[in-house]
Formats: sequence, structure tokens, C-alpha cells
Amino acid sequence: MSRLALARAAYDAVPLYDPKRTPVALDLTDNTNLWGIPPHAERTLREMPTAAVTRYPTLYAAELKAELAQMLGVTPDMIVTGCGSDDILDSAMRAFGEVGDMVVAPEPSFAMIPIFARMNDLQYTGAVELPSQQPDLDALLAARPKILYLCSPNNPTGTLVARATIERALAEAPGVVFIDEAYAEFAGASSVDLLAQSDRLLIIRTMSKAYGLAGLRVGYAVGAPALVEAVEKSRGPYKLNALAERAALAALRDDRAWVDEHVALAIQLRERLSDALRERGLAPLASAANFVCVPVPNCVAVGQALRARGVAARPFPGLPHVGDTLRISVGPWDMLEQFLTAFDAAMQEVNGGVAA
Ligand code: PMP
Repeated sequence: MSRLALARAAYDAVPLYDPKRTPVALDLTDNTNLWGIPPHAERTLREMPTAAVTRYPTLYAAELKAELAQMLGVTPDMIVTGCGSDDILDSAMRAFGEVGDMVVAPEPSFAMIPIFARMNDLQYTGAVELPSQQPDLDALLAARPKILYLCSPNNPTGTLVARATIERALAEAPGVVFIDEAYAEFAGASSVDLLAQSDRLLIIRTMSKAYGLAGLRVGYAVGAPALVEAVEKSRGPYKLNALAERAALAALRDDRAWVDEHVALAIQLRERLSDALRERGLAPLASAANFVCVPVPNCVAVGQALRARGVAARPFPGLPHVGDTLRISVGPWDMLEQFLTAFDAAMQEVNGGVAA
């Protein structure tokens, strides 16, 4: 019997994730914190006691849950942590979806959603977003989903989902509503306050972006205790490693000012990068995240020409309504200047100039 025949049938449609992230001198493809690791988290890692490595971590990261709960103004039984928010999304799909249940999401959105759905033997339907880049809620609700996923700000467009859309989703969705807030710190907006009105809402967040801890894999979700308990069962014990939990605690306790300062910088430089792109005759989408998505003809070829110059930005070919785009992570201005220099040359090479 072949290996594939032994695997569950749904895995025929599950590719291994490959965002084609080969090393380059300047990588602006993954929307992590390009200023680096917060100082107290770094010191905690350097001074890690050996027991953090030789012994098992805590079962469900109770201390970290308490700290996150305090930050968000909820009780600790409303928080579940995971090995990155990827782990939370995967576990939550398994927690709420019976085999064959429907998961819906706007398109474009986080590329892992259809993959996590298939990994858990769920059905997936995407609904092309509206020309305003807002989710087409009518189409999403029409599929009667067990799980309705929204991402705000959305990856890859950067669009903040309208509050009225989220409220309507909570009122009308027949199952659980996931709101992925991986980039919420950069938007200054969140749906956490809506938890008071809905026990069918799960908000998924991460310390990979604003908190600069992507390599440690720390994600969490906030929701009604009954939802959180189900996700924790599906996730299983010991998922957050001990180094990650201790560094995340240090960041939350002592690095909040550092994070706020760098979030403010990212917002300021996001606008400066958008202005620089507009000066080149381009029309970047309004972004509430730490990246800018800009329509660029022949984006795949432009991405390759950038790579040849040691710079990576992620191409998204053929997005609905806007066509070919590049998504550029925002970091320190010297990085963005380096990007713009390489971009001008790449555009000259591929499109014969910037304003194509
Ligand atoms: N959600 C969104 C929208 C993302 O962009 C990402 C990272 N690319 C994730 C979730 C997963 O992040 P992590 O697993 O590092 O928390």
C-alpha cells in the first residue's frame, strides 16, 4: 500500500505549506516584528533555568493565561494558549467541527484556513470579498457554516472589517464565529468587547507579530469559558513550551512600553511607505496592519526581480477586484528605503517603470 493510501483521504487535498521563503538579505514577507525581540523577553531567554528545558512545561500555561486575561480585561477561563495561533485555529476547527461540517471564509484571507479545514476533514467554502474589500457576509452566511472565519485586519489586504459586519455575523451566523486578530495591535481596534454580548465568538491572537516572538510560537484565543474549554481539550496539554511561556510572560509584564512604541512606529512607517508608493503612481490598499498590499502589474515577476536584488516581498497574483499585488511587511525606515530602491529597479526591469 502506498503511503498516500494509508493517510486519511482528505489529506490528498492538503499541500505542505510552502510560502517560498528562501533566505534573502532583506525579508519583508512574513509581517513579523522587524525591530527584533522585546528586551525583557530576550533577557529571560538568555537567563533561562535548565529546568525549563529538562522538565515538562505547565499543562495549559495557567500563569500566561492569567496575565493575558488581565491585559484584556477578561477572566482566565476565557483564555486558551497554543503553539502559535496556527495551533489555536487548527484545534478550534477540530473542537467545533464534526467531520464534514462547513467552514467559510472571505477570499482573499489567511491562506491556512482552507488547509486547516481540510486537515480536520471539514468542508471549506470561500466567498469572494466585496469590491470595498469587506467580507461578503450574505454569501458567507448562505453556506450555513458551522465555523465562520473573519480576519481583521485581513491578511493579505490589511483591511479592517467593519464593526457592523462583525456584529451582524454574531447575530446571524448559525455556529461559531472566529475573528482572527493577528494584527489587531496595529489597528487600534478589537472585537474583545463583543465577548460580553456573544458566547459564540472566539477571538484568535498571537505574540508573533507586535510582540516579536514568532520563533517561540505563542498564540492565544479569547472566548466564552465553554468555547475555551473545548479548544483546550482539542489542543491537548503541554503545547506551549516552557521557554515560550516564560519569555511571553516577561514580554507581557515588562515590555508593554517597548511593544507600544514599535507598534506606533510601524503605523507611522506604514503610512510613509504607502505615501512613497503613491508618489510612484501606485494605489496601495488602506492598511490597518503592519504591512502594505499594493497592486503591481506582473507581481510574480516583480517579486523575482526583487529577490535577485536581495529583497523579498510576497506576491499575491490575481486578487479579486485589485489584480496582481505585492504585500510588503513594514519595518525600520532604512529597510523600507532599501526595499524602495530595489523595487524601483525591479519595476523598471519588469514593467518598464513604476506607474504601469
Ligand atoms: N493569522 C493570520 C492572519 C496570520 O497572518 C498568521 C501568520 N502569518 C497567523 C494567524 C499565524 O500566526 P502564528 O501561528 O505565528 O501565531
